[in-house]
Order: sequence, then C-alpha cells, then structure tokens
Amino acid sequence: MTRIERNICRRDLTTFAIEVSAAALAGWETAGDLAALIADPSLPRPLKLIGGGSNLLFTRRFEGTLLMRCGEPAVERSGLLWTVDANMVLDDLCALVAASGLRGMENLSGIPGTLGGALVQNAGAYGAETGSLLVEAELVDLQSGRMFTVDREWMNYSYRRSRLKDEDGHYAIVRATLGLLPASAPANLDYGNLRAMLDGREPVPAAVREAVIAVRDSKLPDPRRVGSAGSFFRNPEVSADTIAGVEPDMPRYDLGDGRVKLSAAWLIDHAGMKGARVGGAMTWPSQPLVIVNAEGNATAADILGLEHEIISAVSRRFNIILTPEVEHL
Ligand SMILES: Cc1cc2nc3c(=O)[nH]c(=O)nc-3n(C[C@H](O)[C@H](O)[C@H](O)COP(=O)(O)OP(=O)(O)OC[C@H]3O[C@@H](n4cnc5c(N)ncnc54)[C@H](O)[C@@H]3O)c2cc1C
Repeated sequence: MTRIERNICRRDLTTFAIEVSAAALAGWETAGDLAALIADPSLPRPLKLIGGGSNLLFTRRFEGTLLMRCGEPAVERSGLLWTVDANMVLDDLCALVAASGLRGMENLSGIPGTLGGALVQNAGAYGAETGSLLVEAELVDLQSGRMFTVDREWMNYSYRRSRLKDEDGHYAIVRATLGLLPASAPANLDYGNLRAMLDGREPVPAAVREAVIAVRDSKLPDPRRVGSAGSFFRNPEVSADTIAGVEPDMPRYDLGDGRVKLSAAWLIDHAGMKGARVGGAMTWPSQPLVIVNAEGNATAADILGLEHEIISAVSRRFNIILTPEVEHL
C-alpha cells in the first residue's frame, strides 16, 4: 500500500523537531510498493529515503519526494543470522537481540533511528559499528526499481561512512541480514565507563545494554524531549604532524597510518563554544558536540548559524576545520 501527501510541512519528520517542508511525502510498505512509486512520473524528483530522521538537517524546502517505509517490520531468525526489515527501530532490534542472549548489538543500544539509517551511516558507539554486523542487504535502485543483494564488502564501510552514503540517494535498503555473535563471545567494555557502570555485574548482553543506556542518558539529550541529531560534527582525522607539539593534553587516537583522530567535543569545548547559542540553537551543556533545538522553536537558520560559529571558532583556535556528520538537505 502506498500513500502520497503533497506539499507537506511537519515537525515530526526529524529528531531536530524543526519544520520540514517538502513537495511530497510517500509512504510505502513492500518492495513492490516502492517500485510502483519509483515508476510514478507524477512524483517530484529527487526521491529521498527517510528513516528516523535522526541524522538529517533540512536547511530549505525539499523539492523532491521523501520516501518513508510504514508497516510493522519483520524479523526472521536463523541461529546467528537475523534478517530484518530496514524500517525496524534500531534500538528495538538491540533490545530483542540482547534479550535473546546473543551478542553484537548491545553496545549500539540507544542510538535513535532505523536499522536502514544505521547501515547507511555505519552508526556506532562504544566500540561497535552497525556495518561490521552486516552479512547482506537487499537494495532497490531508486532510478530503475531494480532489486539486488550486496554484501558487506560492497558497502565499503569506514568511520560513519558507507558506499550508500557516498552515492547519496541512489539506493534504498529494504532488508538486511545481520550476523550476530554467540553468547560466549567476549563483551566489549573498553569504551566509555561501561565497566564501572556494570559495577561487578556479569556482562551478559542485557546488562551491557542497560549500562550503555545509562551512560548515554547521562550525557545525551533525549530526542523525545529535546530536539537534536546527536553528534553534529565528525571527529576530525588529521596528519599527526599538523598537531605535533600542539596542546599536549589534546586527546588523540593514533590511526596507525601517520594520522590521528581528534575529539571534536574537546576542540569545541577548548575553542570556548561550550554553551554557545544562536537563536533557538544551543550546544548541549554535558556534550558540546551536540547542537540542540533548545526550546523547540529553533529554525534551520539558527542551527546553521551555530554550526558556522563553531567551525570558525575551532578553526581560529586550532587551525582544524570541523565537518558536519549530520546530513544537510
Ligand atoms: C540523541 C541522538 C544520539 C545519537 N547517537 C548516535 C551514536 O551514538 N552513534 C551514531 O552513529 N549516531 C548517533 N546518532 C545519529 C543517528 O541516530 C544515526 O546516524 C542513525 O543511524 C540514523 O538513522 P535514521 O533512520 O534516523 O536515518 P535518517 O536520519 O532518516 O537518514 C540518514 C541517511 O540514511 C538514509 N536512509 C535511511 N534509511 C534508509 C534506507 N532504508 N535505505 C537507504 N537509505 C536510507 C537517508 O536517506 C539519509 O541519507 C544520534 C542521534 C541522536 C538524535
């Protein structure tokens, strides 16, 4: 079943909770419905998939059609292989997997959005990345309507990137098969203060999930109450030479190829932008990497204004140019 609305203007399409207007919004359930929408010449182009809208900033009216999957997502389990519709809420899947006793998704708990969006972004947290679990994904080419299956290698994953992200908007993920880990696999507790949060408890997947959610809740705004898109900027990866001798207490992670990854949050904080504000947009007090819609009335212009102020301040102070992780449309 498909449902098409024209000239929409809504605040509930993205977790930023800012007004989004678009020429059309089309709901679909099956791959066949999606093929019918692709073949419909009356739909304004381009066609753009939207999942939970938790990594999107609409900076102007979208003149194409937003494609949103509706309906109850199916999950088929076959031992460690789970085949899941891409519109499944990622955290619901994390909860199901953790409750089953299998490992692999517990560290991804609490990341907003859908499985499809997470596979495009290679969403990750606490040492885990969604892409590393992918066995295969069923895609639909949004130009031709052709359906085909790809594996993890095809997706070309790296830090918060994938081939789908690079070839923006060409394909829709319809379903994906994930390879989970047995209950006997070791827990990954090396990031954040997960070990301390567990406080001596057995690190079974459900307990690790609980710890991850507790750590996240203490740092990040709850998207149901405060609009944001999570980390607004990517952690910059720069040549080690460029920061040699600069700020010895600047956290840096050696990438092993002459480059280091820096903490964007630290750079923003030390450029004096913690608590900075433009109109209704503000950096989140306990995590300056997150730009929030502080009172619910921010505009895209406020968010863009603050983004530019942060980029300028970090560039002036450290000569490093931050790039946004949040996709701008
Ligand atoms: C409070 C908060 C905390 C966050 N924490 C994290 C975190 O810890 N780690 C992290 O990595 N991210 C985090 N994020 C960002 C975001 O939740 C993730 O990037 C998430 O995976 C995006 O999924 P989505 O369904 O919302 O995608 P959307 O924002 O809807 O879309 C993102 C991109 O994916 C594409 N897309 C979506 N679904 C499909 C599909 N089925 N097929 C093809 N393309 C598709 C869209 O076209 C778009 O290009 C956070 C966000 C918030 C608000």
